[in-house]
Amino acid sequence: MTTFVYDFADGNKDQKDLLGGKGANLAEMTNLGLPVPPGFTITTEACRAYLESGGQPDALEDEVTQHLAALEKKMGRALGDPSDPLLVSVRSGAKFSMPGMMETVLNIGLNDESVAGLAKQSDDERFAQDSYRRLLQMFGSTVLGVHGERFSDALDEAKKAKDTTNDLDLDADDLRTLVATYKKIIEDDAGRLFPQEPREQLDLAVRAVFDSWNTERAMLYRRQERIPEDLGTAVNVQAMVFGNGGMDSGSGVAFTRDPASGEQGVYGDYLQNAQGEDVVAGIRNTVSLADFAEVDRASHDELLAIMEKLERHYRDMCDIEFTVEHGKLWMLQTRVGKRTPEAAFRIGMHMSDEGLIDADETVRRVTGAQLAQLMFPRFDPDADRTLIARGMNASPGAAVGRIVFDSDTAVEWAGRGEDVILVRKETNPDDLRGMVVARGILTSRGGKTSHAAVVARGMGRTCVCGAESLDVDARAREVRVRDGETLKEGDIISIDGTTGEVYSGEVPVSASLVVRHFEGEELDDDLVLAVRRVMKHADGARRLRVRANADTPEDAARARRFGAEGIGLCRTEHMFLGDRRELVETLIVAQEEADQTAALDALLPLQREDFTGILEAMDGLPVTIRLIDPPLHEFLPDYTDLSVKVALAEERGEVDEHDKRLLVAVKRLHEQNPMLGLRGVRLGILIPGLFTMQARAILEAAADRTAAGGNPQPEIMIPLVASVRELDVVKARILAIAREVEEERGVEVAFKLGTMIELPRAAVLADRIAKSAEFFSFGTNDLTQMTWGFSRDDVESSFFSTYLENGIFDVSPFESLDTLGVGTLVRMGTEKGRATRPDLHVGVCGEHGGDPASIHFFDEVGLDYVSCSPFRVPVARLEAGRARLG
Ligand code: ADP
Ligand code: MG
Ligand code: MG
Repeated sequence: MTTFVYDFADGNKDQKDLLGGKGANLAEMTNLGLPVPPGFTITTEACRAYLESGGQPDALEDEVTQHLAALEKKMGRALGDPSDPLLVSVRSGAKFSMPGMMETVLNIGLNDESVAGLAKQSDDERFAQDSYRRLLQMFGSTVLGVHGERFSDALDEAKKAKDTTNDLDLDADDLRTLVATYKKIIEDDAGRLFPQEPREQLDLAVRAVFDSWNTERAMLYRRQERIPEDLGTAVNVQAMVFGNGGMDSGSGVAFTRDPASGEQGVYGDYLQNAQGEDVVAGIRNTVSLADFAEVDRASHDELLAIMEKLERHYRDMCDIEFTVEHGKLWMLQTRVGKRTPEAAFRIGMHMSDEGLIDADETVRRVTGAQLAQLMFPRFDPDADRTLIARGMNASPGAAVGRIVFDSDTAVEWAGRGEDVILVRKETNPDDLRGMVVARGILTSRGGKTSHAAVVARGMGRTCVCGAESLDVDARAREVRVRDGETLKEGDIISIDGTTGEVYSGEVPVSASLVVRHFEGEELDDDLVLAVRRVMKHADGARRLRVRANADTPEDAARARRFGAEGIGLCRTEHMFLGDRRELVETLIVAQEEADQTAALDALLPLQREDFTGILEAMDGLPVTIRLIDPPLHEFLPDYTDLSVKVALAEERGEVDEHDKRLLVAVKRLHEQNPMLGLRGVRLGILIPGLFTMQARAILEAAADRTAAGGNPQPEIMIPLVASVRELDVVKARILAIAREVEEERGVEVAFKLGTMIELPRAAVLADRIAKSAEFFSFGTNDLTQMTWGFSRDDVESSFFSTYLENGIFDVSPFESLDTLGVGTLVRMGTEKGRATRPDLHVGVCGEHGGDPASIHFFDEVGLDYVSCSPFRVPVARLEAGRARLG
């Protein structure tokens, strides 16, 4: 029989699948002997059963009854007992943290009678009424579907009537009146009375938490964070402790290190006389942990000791929630905290220096995506700028964009290609849509633990929060800056998430320190040091080599500085553009063989020069040069344009023979499906002179480099091969050229000859193709197009978003390799190829070569190298190391 409910004492931190993150960690803290209010967890399995069948599984009710009875016994009070009520919270908690996306209800068990019992037991009428109105508010909105604003508006009115903005100025009578108002709102809006029966409250709250898994914002968040749809949430039922019973009580959140910068030292916010979310909701200004020490030294010291214990236990930065009830500290939550990329690298380095983790673990703890973030540009430190405000550096980066005040506008403007900065007083989960599309987020309230900060860090979005000098007026669509200046919707601002600074207008950006480090600059900076140490260890651990896709000497040199170990793809098509286009035209329209030869002869020295530069930049390392791939018409004028030109010229009686012949050629070469037409090896077979000219240029360049004392390692790669016979035809010609060059130069020119595997037929027949190829390079862009039958340029913009929404794939197969389909071809091609030729060298040169998930797959399949754009090379090195470290 399945167990649906676990006591906190019966779980541990590794049971996140079953108990959710919050439940698993509450169990862990309980078993560490920390002061955790007792309770129990209803499993994610129960949630899944509920969501599937639309009703509670039968066994669940009984199990809850048993665990509730045990809890009541432990606490010596019964749920909702009129004279001395036990109150509980009902808290959501999925496997992966989804901050603020799902629901929690506090103070379950209060009703018209037990509120009096609570007042009597605590000797505090105000506290009892405050707790009741909170229950009504949370229960009303979460469980009964009443619009949250109905309650907050009533609360604002009550405060206004007292001429205050501080909730603490409301006394017991005010709160009692508010309770009556709230009950009326529930009756009016939900069409039912607030349930007085404590167990009914509990059961309804549990269901509401289950249901909150499927709210629109939760689904959006999961899609954004790639959290699977079918996990469900656990529900934690926990005895209440109260931070709202006076100034000797309060509630807080803290991190064991700074989650934004990664600096050592605790970081947190505390709010006296407050419950739960009050701290992060920005209702009053919080105090720092240092100030908390002034308020309540004993609790503060105990908290710090616990935080240290947690960090040592989890061997990672922890994020915690706590409450102080009349001077007694209670721990309500912990988890390994989210952090910025910068913090991830720094924390890893510090923790390894502190002996908490080893070098392998420092590599596992950071990701290629985080490294990529650190390579984004920063604001140019020397540029002029006008500082208009300063807030918290909540999530790093430099963002420039137009001010928008709400999600709808953000989505609309971003949709038409504008960069926008979402500016809010504070954010709540409904702002998620806007945060997703914004370049950056700016708030005037809340700290590094506020909703905006937590969510922005999770998404890697630049965020400055709590810029308190800004007066954000979303209704008037303007922000008033302290000195009287007013910025309107659409005005451009620049926000620096690394320093917390806000500027009016556009501040130019400059290269990041990490990039400057990769470029070879000596920099004395501890983030750079942390990156360097991680890269060194990852390089030592990885099996995969990393090459770059580069087709100019400059790109090749940069790639090499970034750690590339060769070129995996040097495209040659751009070498036929510009001035050389005319030669290509001549080649195509030439009627006499002599004209063709002349065009090729003119191209040869130019190509030789191209290759010499690249071989020099990559001296001593392999350079894979792909012979010309795209269809010829890409080098010719547009058919319509040229027709018009010729027609007009004829009308004027000026006949241009070249244009006329060109038009015929363009017409002849016109294809319905150029991607499936005369390109790649097919071109090499139909117009042999092109491939042989390129091969000669490569080999002569290599001979020149050798003569100059270099060590060139060219690899000639034939694109779009489907049959070994295609390869054999061009191979024979290239070998003949090689013999000629060797004879002419009197030197031996070493080179390899191989092929791209980018057609399913090639992957399937790789054993045959390997007979004639010394290396394979998987062209996964084309292979994905050909396997799915997708024309990338057409489908991405037309229907991919619908496919993603329907869950047909979680991510575009052009971004991250479709391991199931295309990956099977890669695996098969590699295995079959090596069955024929055990030392076959195999790599990949599609965009996937720089994608973390794909790199892990290529490592597993046993490829020799990945090749990606120069800028991605460090990311690929890191991920190749992480792939080995598991
Ligand atoms: P979230 O996942 O949105 O943080 P939580 O379940 O953690 O939601 O609860 C919301 C707030 O209520 C938190 O500040 C939490 O500390 C507080 N809280 C939850 N349970 C209790 C409890 N039993 N006693 C006091 N405060 C609680
Ligand atoms: Mg929480
Ligand atoms: Mg291709």
